[in-house]
Parts: sequence; C-alpha cells; structure tokens
Amino acid sequence: MNIQKIPKSQVLVLIGAGHANIQVLKHLTMRNYEGLQTILINNGYSSLYSGMMPGLIENYYKFEDVSIDIPKLCKNSETIFINDEVIKLDEKKNYIYFKNHPPIKYTALSLNVGSRSKTNKLNISKDAKIIKVKPISNLHNQIILIENLIKKEKFISCSIIGGGVAGIEIAFALKSRFKNNIKLTIFSNQKNLEKNINSRSLKKILKLLVKNNMDLLNSEIISIKDKYIEDKDKNKYPTNISFISTGAMSLSWVVNSSLNLDQDGFIKINSYLQSENYKNIFATGDIASLNYAKRPKSGVMAVRQGEQLKKNIFKFLLGKNLSSFKPQSHWLYLIGTGNQNAVLNWRNISINGNLVWRLKELIDRRFIKKFSFNGPMTNSKKKIRLPLSIKVQNQINLKMRCEGCGSKLSKNNLLSYLNHSNSKNFEILSDSASISLSDKKLMQSIDHIKYFSDMDPYVFGRIAYLHSQNDILSSGSKVNSFSVSLGLPHHEDLAQKFYLEFFMQGIIYESNIDKSLLASGHTYTSDEPGITLNMNGTKILDTSKDQARENDLIYLTKPLGVGFLMSAFANNAKGVSPSVYKKLLNNMLISNKKAYEISNNYKGKALTDISGFGLAAHLIDICLNSNLTANLILNKNLIIAECLSELKLFQSSAYEDNRESSINHIKMMSEKNLNISNLSKILFDPQTSGPLLISINNDQKEEFENEFEKYYSFRPLLIGKFQTKKEFAIEIN
Ligand SMILES: Cc1cc2nc3c(=O)[nH]c(=O)nc-3n(C[C@H](O)[C@H](O)[C@H](O)COP(=O)(O)OP(=O)(O)OC[C@H]3O[C@@H](n4cnc5c(N)ncnc54)[C@H](O)[C@@H]3O)c2cc1C
Repeated sequence: MNIQKIPKSQVLVLIGAGHANIQVLKHLTMRNYEGLQTILINNGYSSLYSGMMPGLIENYYKFEDVSIDIPKLCKNSETIFINDEVIKLDEKKNYIYFKNHPPIKYTALSLNVGSRSKTNKLNISKDAKIIKVKPISNLHNQIILIENLIKKEKFISCSIIGGGVAGIEIAFALKSRFKNNIKLTIFSNQKNLEKNINSRSLKKILKLLVKNNMDLLNSEIISIKDKYIEDKDKNKYPTNISFISTGAMSLSWVVNSSLNLDQDGFIKINSYLQSENYKNIFATGDIASLNYAKRPKSGVMAVRQGEQLKKNIFKFLLGKNLSSFKPQSHWLYLIGTGNQNAVLNWRNISINGNLVWRLKELIDRRFIKKFSFNGPMTNSKKKIRLPLSIKVQNQINLKMRCEGCGSKLSKNNLLSYLNHSNSKNFEILSDSASISLSDKKLMQSIDHIKYFSDMDPYVFGRIAYLHSQNDILSSGSKVNSFSVSLGLPHHEDLAQKFYLEFFMQGIIYESNIDKSLLASGHTYTSDEPGITLNMNGTKILDTSKDQARENDLIYLTKPLGVGFLMSAFANNAKGVSPSVYKKLLNNMLISNKKAYEISNNYKGKALTDISGFGLAAHLIDICLNSNLTANLILNKNLIIAECLSELKLFQSSAYEDNRESSINHIKMMSEKNLNISNLSKILFDPQTSGPLLISINNDQKEEFENEFEKYYSFRPLLIGKFQTKKEFAIEIN
C-alpha cells in the first residue's frame, strides 16, 4: 500500500474554546498541517461570544445566536474535542491533567481559558444568592435564578457589584428583560464609574441609568449576606441577589504552575504571545498578561490576539520566525444600554441610540457567522507539511507500509503504556491469559467498531466496551474477561501514544465498572482505526430469541438514532446542536447492565440488543423464533433528543441494506399517517452501543418501570407488545 497520508507525530493542544483558540480552529478548517494532531479541551460543548452576552441576558438573542458549536468547529477542523476540565499542568514535562480523562502530552500548547470573577476581597456568606459574571459560560445558566426568584417574589432588588462596562451592560439588560419586577443598583468603588470611556459617553450612560430608575452608588462592598450587602463604611443595602462583576481573577491550576505570572496570577506573555519561560506554551485572552504593554481584559483583546495566535502557533511548529502582536491603544466601545440601544465610544466621540445597537449587532453577528457551517465539509484544504523526524521521513521514503504482523505499534510505545497503566488485571506482555471457569456455561462474542474520526478516543473506548457488553448481556450472561485488538491510526510518537492511551483507558474505565478481566491484547496500525473486543461471559440466565411470550410488553432500554444523527452531524446539520450532540454521546455511554439486572428482578428477558442491523431486523428474529408478531406503537421519544426533522433528512449508509432485508416482514397499519411513516425510518437505523430489547409480563409493568426510572432517571421505552403470530412479523399502528 502506498503511504498517502503523513503520520501525525506532533500534538497541538488548545485549552479553552475562548475568542482566540476558536480562530486557530477556524484556520484549521482551511489548512491541513500534515504531521499534526490537534486537540481542543473545553469544559462545555458551546462557547459564548462575550459581545452578545447583554443581548442574550435581555432575551433579544437566543442561545444559538451567541454561541459557537464546538463539536462542529472541531469536526470541520479535524480536531479531537475533549469535553473536560483541566485541573493541573506539568509544563516541565509537557503534560496536562484532567478531571475525567487520562493525561495528555503535548508538543505545543495554547491557553485561552478566560478568567473568573474576582471574589478574594468579598466576604460571601453561604446563604447569599450570587451570580458571578465570569466565566461567561456559566453566566447564562444562572440568569434562571433571577427568573425563578421573580416568579416567587414578584419584585426583587438586585445589586451589581462593580461598575465596569460588563456591570453596566448587565444592569441595562436585566432592566430591559424584567422591567418593573426588578430594582437595580450598581455599586462602584471608582469615582468615575468606568475609566476606559470618555466623559460624554459617561454622561449619557448616567442619564440613561436615571431614566431607567437604576441607582449608581460610589461605595466599596466588602460582604454579601442572605438579605443584604455591606460596604466598608458598614452601610447595609437590602438585596435579594447580587452580581459579582468586580474584575478578573486567574485560575488556581495556572497560579499553581511554574509559568511566569504577573502580580494578579495571569500568565506573562511576550509580543509573540508565548509564555515568558516556556516557549511552546502560548496564552491569550483574559488569562494572559502582555509583559510589554498594559491593556484592559476584554473579548475584543482576545479576538485581536487570536488573529496573531493562529499565525504564530503554526510558525512555531514549522520552525519559522514569529511575528509580534501590536496591541492598539484605543478601542471602539459599543455598550448595550437595553431595549436595542447602545452607546458608541471612540476616543472623544460619543453617539447613542438604536442605530448604534444595529451596528453592534451587525459586527457581532458577522463574527459568529464565521464559525458556523452549512452542509457537508469540502475537502479542499491547503496542505502544509510540518518538519518530520528522520524516522517518519524514512517510513515515507519506503513507500510501502508492512501489512502483515509488522503493522503494529512500536514496542516502545506499547511498553511505555503497559508500564504506567497500573492495570492490575492483565499480565504484562504475556501471550495469553489463564481464566478459571466455574461450572456455568461460557458465552463468547466478538465485536468490532470502526473509529468515528475525530471523536474523543477515550469516549470511543468506553463506547466500544459497552457496545460489546450488550452481546453478553442479551445472552443472559455477565462479562468475565475480554481480549482487545486495537486498530490505531498510522501515527508516531506522541500522537500514537495518545490514541493508545485514550482507547485503552476508555475500555478499562468500563471494564472496571463491569468487574471484568482484561485477558490479552493486540495492536495494529490501520487506515481504518477501530476496536475489536472478544468477550467471555458466564451464563446466568437461559435467554434466547425464542423466549418471547404472547402479551409480553416490549421495551427498549434507551432511545435510538445513532446512525442517522452521526450522518447528520457529519453533514453539519443545524439540528445537531451542541446539546443534541452531547445527548447522542451520552446515549451511547449509557450501560445496559443495570437495566438487564432490573429486568431479571421482574422475570423479564433481555432478548437481544439493537446494533448495526437496526431495531426491525433484531425484532423480526425474535418474532420468527418465538412464533409471534410484534405490535408496535412508535413515538417520538424513541428518537434521541426527539430529532424528527433530522431523521427525515438523513440516514446512515447502512440504512438501505437494513431496510431491504426487513421491509417484507413489516406491515404499516396506517400507511397514510405521515408521522408514523417518518418515524418508521428509525426501524432501520443502525446503532452503536444501542439499547437492549427486553420483554416483561404486563403484571410487572409498574414495578419494572419504577425501578428502572429510579436508577436511570428516565422511564424505559415501551414500544409495543407480542401477539399471536399474524402474516407479518411486525405490525405498526
Ligand atoms: C456580561 C459581559 C459582557 C461583556 N461584553 C464584552 C464586550 O462587549 N466586549 C468585550 O470586548 N468584552 C466583553 N466582556 C469581557 C469578556 O467576557 C472577557 O474579557 C472575554 O470573555 C475573555 O475571553 P477569553 O477568550 O479570554 O475567554 P472566554 O471567552 O471566557 O473563554 C474561555 C473558555 O475556556 C473554557 N475553560 C475555562 N477553564 C477551563 C478549564 N479548566 N478546562 C477546560 N476549559 C476551560 C471555558 O469553558 C470557555 O469556553 C464582557 C464580559 C461580560 C461578563
């Protein structure tokens, strides 16, 4: 086989989908740096654009108007997205540590993680109701606190602690939204309110505050209690809820690192946006502090730095000279003043009104639009090759890659993984493992799933385990042990170690929960990476496909839709929003094990699991073997996130085959009902880590559903009933 693709060996990690890093990702939607694996880590599936926050609080914008869809931005830039929180940096060894993932080693790192609201000078009592304006990713969710309070109290008083631009904009936005149900007071310890705007703009803002019946007090608040706040002169002000808009504070794991920091704990960066003491670490936005110029922290500054970052970071990786970031001295301020009005402030110029808001809206919407995608990706990226190691060069020069037993992982990478993986349940590098058998029957199954490119490989490892576990559960067994064969991408060095570590740790995470033993493993490299799991189970119950009984209820343990939703996501479908994508991943990560155990408690039978052939094919097998007909009622809750419009528009490549092999066994009782005929597409949708199909006697219905809900927080999906055999295996009502 000719080597077409250049193996990836260097790893660029972006932490935080802030205003600068998203520009690096956008750049990667148009460029392919051969030899580079890019990873984005962000604690959330959306990134909010700060300029539009006031409009969002005011309810003028919808959430999707002001947020960037991170999974799609990553998909289009061929970047792996890891949804997690970074908790530690080892910048000496180039490692990043997370809350819920194995550590990652990087070649270059870009930090754009924003900041936190400064609370170190405030004494906040436990029962005080507060909303921190930073991180902005949390601000939006918290506005609901005010809405709930107003619903309860009808009228509330709200304090905004801090009189900077953010505090003023929040006050106007809240007033526009909650009108006469809210009394707002801004507390500022600066005499001139906001120091970065001219006196004419200030006058206008002060006038608008009065007009809107909002107070501005020159006072330094030092403590926040349940019902009041107190300033340093011991004056008390009654308040129901307080916004903390007192400036920016750094993050603890940044402060605890050995990066050079300024006196407030922000990373000192040079004009190339590099850390002073670690040149492979770039920092931008609120978390960074220019070591040659003092500038206020703002979204605009982060955006400007992003324009330079997206050039410098790749120049660094290409070994080229970097260029300097030149911060501007004067900024255009467009400050929202509520009801679609804004004040424009530029040097000594000040204009206000609805036209200014329109201008602000135009600029902001244009920015957000740059990060949205319509239709499938085009494959016309400009290719730029990173400097490659001699080892990789030699491999490319060979033109042929060994396809036989040589197509495996380097022994060094494998040993390095095995030595630090701490896995107690397998013997290092043994060729096989001994497994003690009980006198029960041994069940065996094998399953393979192809890697969904650019998916978090740790999540994929977990999904692969759960997908295989289904086969064992549906045969009435418990997983005892398993062997794994990993098909890893043809990568080298750090990139190869990353995939190995993440695939394996994902598998081991689920096997630890399942208390199963990893018996043996094998690796190979491939253009089509994936995971094969061969599982052994001990038979606990005698279940088989001929055990469905007349009048038994038919349940699924979770919704369907992996096939068409993955296809819609790959085509940048609007309906697969970040929250839908999150539901899709979470759905695949739901283990069926407990559902299986609960069904056993109610004499239920896990008759099969729904996998690549789709619901219809699996159910037909059961009906034919049990000599029955399944009478189904399809509901939209059968579909992940109830995405009916995407179901209508998209389908997996396996859909047609699935449909063809099952359609002759299905009768639609009400052909004319469009809803049903649209919904029926789900019968042929292939599932990865799909649900179990369980049958339960009608007498056990309530108890089974209640116990299931107690554990899973949703009810099992009742899809129909087995009946006396009729002409068709499945009837749809
Ligand atoms: C209400 C309001 C209005 C504002 N309006 C404006 C305005 O009109 N114009 C303007 O210029 N500025 C404005 N600002 C200021 C602006 O919010 C910040 O300066 C700006 O958001 C900083 O951007 P950033 O790119 O540094 O980080 P952010 O935009 O805050 O992005 C940081 C990202 O990092 C992620 N993250 C953080 N910690 C971790 C972690 N440990 N692990 C993984 N991910 C992590 C977060 O989830 C987030 O996605 C406003 C601020 C507020 C509060």
